[in-house]
Amino acid sequence: MCGIVGYIGKQKAAPILLAGLAKLEYRGYDSAGIAVMENGKIEVQKDKGRVCNLCEKKEIENLQGSIGIAHTRWATHGEPSKINSHPHTDSNEEFAVVHNGIIENYVELRKELEKKGYSFKSDTDTEVIPNLIHYFYNKEKTSQEDVNDENNNELKFVKAVKQATDKLIGSFAIEVLSKENPDIMVVVRKDSPLVIGKGYNENYIASDIPAILSYTKDFYLLENLEFAMLTRDNIRFFDKDLKEFNKKSDTITWNAMAADKNGYEDYMLKEIYEQPTAIRETIGTRVNEGICKFDELDFSKEYLQSLTQIYIVACGTAMHAGLAVKSTIERLSKIHTEVDIASEFRYRDPLVDEKTLCIFITQSGETADTIAALKLCKEKGAKTLAVTNVIGSSITREADYSIYTHAGPEIAVASTKAYTSQITLLVLLAMYFAQILENIEKHELENIIKEMLVLPNKIEDILKSTEQIQEIAKQMYKEKDVFYLGRGIDYTTATEASLKVKEISYIHSESYAAGELKHGTIALIEKGINVIGIMTDPNLVKKTVSNIEEIITRGAVTTVVINEKIAQTLDTRIFTNVIRVPETETWLSPIVTIVPLQLLAYYISKEKGLDVDKPRNLAKSVTVE
Ligand code: GLU
Repeated sequence: MCGIVGYIGKQKAAPILLAGLAKLEYRGYDSAGIAVMENGKIEVQKDKGRVCNLCEKKEIENLQGSIGIAHTRWATHGEPSKINSHPHTDSNEEFAVVHNGIIENYVELRKELEKKGYSFKSDTDTEVIPNLIHYFYNKEKTSQEDVNDENNNELKFVKAVKQATDKLIGSFAIEVLSKENPDIMVVVRKDSPLVIGKGYNENYIASDIPAILSYTKDFYLLENLEFAMLTRDNIRFFDKDLKEFNKKSDTITWNAMAADKNGYEDYMLKEIYEQPTAIRETIGTRVNEGICKFDELDFSKEYLQSLTQIYIVACGTAMHAGLAVKSTIERLSKIHTEVDIASEFRYRDPLVDEKTLCIFITQSGETADTIAALKLCKEKGAKTLAVTNVIGSSITREADYSIYTHAGPEIAVASTKAYTSQITLLVLLAMYFAQILENIEKHELENIIKEMLVLPNKIEDILKSTEQIQEIAKQMYKEKDVFYLGRGIDYTTATEASLKVKEISYIHSESYAAGELKHGTIALIEKGINVIGIMTDPNLVKKTVSNIEEIITRGAVTTVVINEKIAQTLDTRIFTNVIRVPETETWLSPIVTIVPLQLLAYYISKEKGLDVDKPRNLAKSVTVE
């Protein structure tokens, strides 16, 4: 997992590369580096640490070259260090490469190359790539007579990259510079993302669109094993057999503003505040006159009736979104629904067949375990449906169907708006199933739709004042442990709220189904411990209150999240803090209830002075197992 950027044009490359890297730091940030063509030589500057360390280097300021590649790393092989940072060159320093992904067979390749006389400086898997390219380029060169023909040289460069990538097992998005071809760059990808931005007499490359969106709106989304050869004023595309083809560009309608902090202190806070808009976008035109529609899907009543089960498979927050909608899908479609963790599911030979619909949720569309689980379900004959936020992402190329959350770019590592949009989209999907299956009365459907449409306003109400939450964060930030409790759908919210606080504030936290407390966990409750109870389901509130009373007796400090209606039925004076949220339909409540708890995690992290957007040891999209 990492971010890569490339530039080929007439301007100084280094500042453009560094600006692009800064936007991609959410993808990896343990080291950064750039390589620029400088007077016919490849000049590499790299170091351990954040991109900003690099910006301060005099050597980089002095770089004049107008072609370059850049990388921000999230190490998979070899510790974060200067020598392991990208770009990597071959041992003759004729090619420079940046790489996102993992080369699984690098040990064998390295041995083969060492036998051929190549030497290695780093511990990375990546370093085999420039050496393989060097090997094939020179092999090719000696086997050709007309070595001086320029066009031929260019093609030899692409061919060498192709021959090198033929040897690679694993995933890669790579950019390559060649000393002998100083006005060309070659790029290719397989299972790691890469986009090309088309400018006027200049072209850009990046791991994702926002990194270069301020320069161009015209993009080529490179498919697996497509090669591109870029010059300043041209881009040539080649397929996996190096047959040249024409590729259509896509014009992006969202603007760079959407990918910037927009005045907020952190991306996470901005994204929390974007939730009303994101949910409106997710609903978009999918509901109309009391009907719910998905133009991307063509499920028939017969097909849905033939299903014996639905599997929702995902990781982390996306998996929690699955948990939050499981009972809604079951209730509306009357189809048994299971939710599983992708990294578990894929290794346990799950009972999946053509009578199973498999739904995969991933914000980035690049989550390796989720994609692998999808491939497994396809092999077993199930239909696969991807729920993602990123158009053209890897999962959408594998799935039979893809539906998008349209939540806009999510940059902060801790997911917020993607989660609420995923739940919104999946509830819509459940209603769509119910409609096809004729399981739902028209007025019932209309009521849920009506309630969905006002959800963004309810979230706006919560976001209007955050003082109370900031106060609670001040009371809690020094804690070592915190517990989150709930029943039914509130338990799923507790699970996500607990993950948020873990991710960004490093406080140990657990979530429990409130009824489970007395089966063990209550032994941990002692005077002063912080417990957060979530109670929005009127049918379960009394039970949860009894559980909370049990822990109050044992000295716990309690914060409860409840809605107005529930507040009226309780003596709220027994709780230390009461956070009130607007009332909504129970199925939709996770979308509202999570918001103050996202804010709580955010403000605890701020109180502790931590980097909210880039928590330690984590990266935004987990493109490795
Ligand atoms: N596997 C490569 C490395 O460890 C690339 C990792 C990345 O995608 O950042 O250097």
